[in-house]
Amino acid sequence: MSNSQVPRTPRIGYGWDSHEFQPGIPLKIGGVLIPHHAGLAGHSDGDVLLHALTDALLGAIAAGDIGTYFPPTDPKWKGADSTVFVREALKQIEEAGYVVGNVDSTLILAAPKIGPHAKAIQQHVAELLGVDPSCVGIKAKTPEGMGTDNAAIAHVAVLLNEICWP
Ligand code: MG
Repeated sequence: MSNSQVPRTPRIGYGWDSHEFQPGIPLKIGGVLIPHHAGLAGHSDGDVLLHALTDALLGAIAAGDIGTYFPPTDPKWKGADSTVFVREALKQIEEAGYVVGNVDSTLILAAPKIGPHAKAIQQHVAELLGVDPSCVGIKAKTPEGMGTDNAAIAHVAVLLNEICWP
């Protein structure tokens, strides 16, 4: 077996993000619009889950973080749909020779309740990544004792597998 035929080991990635709630703006989590009196403030659309996912994907191939590709100082990304960030990270991992195996996530926020929207978020993130919804874990907790009731936090872990070209 030549060196090029030796399968490369899967890669793990991890990402974290937080955004503050601000009244009167749309709330988008995992690309899904969720009815709420406040949304997440940020340079882009403030989608905390997609930002953590982007960092997890990039981290898995040690390719920097979301700010490496989309500097917050660049006015181009003001109000941007965060799916753009995930798509760039997917391009990077594909160029590195990997595909997404599975994703797991935890959202931490006081309100709104994520439960009723978890399936829609799972479906949307799975479509974005080109995987089956069974490969996308969406979990949510309230920030007991953390004092972060005015913020949404997301943790994301991903596993990448080597692309097996025919
Ligand atoms: Mg962010």
